Amino acid sequence: MNQQLKEDKRNQSALLATAVQAANEFLGSLDSRKAAVFPHDQYNATDLPEIGLGAEAALAQFRTRYESGLAGSAGSRYFGFVTGGSTPASLVGDWLAAAYDQNPAADEDSNAPQVEQEAIHWLRQLFGLPDSFVGTFVSGATVSNFVGLAQARQWIGQQQGANVAEDGLWGIRPFPILAATPHSSAKKALAMLGLGRQAITPVPTLPNREAMDVAALAEILATLDQPAVVIASGGTVNTVDFDDLQAIADLKQKHNFWLHLDAAFGGFAACSPQFAHLLTGQETADSITIDAHKWLNVPYDSAMTFTRHPELQLAAFQNSAVYLGDVKENPSLVHWTPQNSRRFRALPAWMTLLAYGRSGYQDIVERNCAQARWLGEQIEQSEQFRLLAPVRLNCVCFTPASNPSLPQIQEFLAKVRDDGRIYLTQTVYQGQPAIRAAFSNWQTEQRDMKICWQALQELISEK
Ligand SMILES: *Cc1c(COP(=O)(O)O)cnc(C)c1O
Repeated sequence: MNQQLKEDKRNQSALLATAVQAANEFLGSLDSRKAAVFPHDQYNATDLPEIGLGAEAALAQFRTRYESGLAGSAGSRYFGFVTGGSTPASLVGDWLAAAYDQNPAADEDSNAPQVEQEAIHWLRQLFGLPDSFVGTFVSGATVSNFVGLAQARQWIGQQQGANVAEDGLWGIRPFPILAATPHSSAKKALAMLGLGRQAITPVPTLPNREAMDVAALAEILATLDQPAVVIASGGTVNTVDFDDLQAIADLKQKHNFWLHLDAAFGGFAACSPQFAHLLTGQETADSITIDAHKWLNVPYDSAMTFTRHPELQLAAFQNSAVYLGDVKENPSLVHWTPQNSRRFRALPAWMTLLAYGRSGYQDIVERNCAQARWLGEQIEQSEQFRLLAPVRLNCVCFTPASNPSLPQIQEFLAKVRDDGRIYLTQTVYQGQPAIRAAFSNWQTEQRDMKICWQALQELISEK
């Protein structure tokens, strides 16, 4: 055995203790660390060593060269994109997932797949989804959208008497894909599926909303002479607007379409009786996307994909050229997603769900939504900023009150980032360049909100 491997094997326990110390130092630094760090320094790659340094020296070098440039995004004041942190229990689960190093793709050499099934069962209960939904872990909501839309494509093929997974798209007629305010990742998924980013026919939104005008959807569906795919939003990223899922579901009585619901973070509205109504009708979706590395607060990368049509998911992703009948009952995880081998990704989710339960997630969701509401109120009362949409859940969409041009917003956001107390990201809302603040971290408290509002006011007044 190589000398460094041999030594590291002998010192493994001390090495892990060193890693624990490094992690504790990092976690302890989160409150004072900048929320985001722009990589200003020129990046110079060193050469691969012929003889390795051993793990302890490698860790020391990593810390010297890179640690100061890491973001405090796991901490309580990173409000860019929609970003969760890692609960203590999920971190334990993630570390041990690496230590256990199982490959749950195989179902005959360990009980890791059963842990995944139990986590999915708990998640269905958390989200109020019926047991008829089959769930699988994937690496993120983009891949979950891909898996859902791959089934939609397979279903369309079936409606046309074709098997797309076996024979490709060659033999099928182009079909309508309808959406009002889809996430960019849905377009990416359509690109990967050979359908194309341009395949979406836009459905109008309600006035001053990001939610779909369902009457307009009904009109479009009435003109079609073939089955379609509808992509619904369960929480848009700018204003967390929800398409009326019940009204869309009602259209299924008259029209034949696949309903894919992207509820990457909005799915967590189900955790609170205050917000659960936003998802009324979700159980009529054919496939559903929900992220775990956002509001479940597990480490990257993790999400779930749910379906009411497991046979179509298997048709699309089975790891063989054989027909479905040849896949045995309860097929192993190798047949369900774009991945074959997979990490024990379910363990962090399993650990955090058991550690904090339904009420733990209700607390996180309600606390984050109250924080968004509070910031929205400050903005509404201020002369320096303008609120662009009502705060519906956990995001605040706003601009500076004067000269909200793209360059001015970019300059302001760079100032916010370099200041480091908070981090916010840019968007465009109804043609207007804008700023978003999204709250989805379990650690955020009112104290952080005060710091956030103070920073915003100070930095906007600075010239
Ligand atoms: C974040 C997000 C996605 C993409 O998620 P990833 O986890 O980054 O792949 C898709 N849809 C919505 C609504 C999102 O918020």
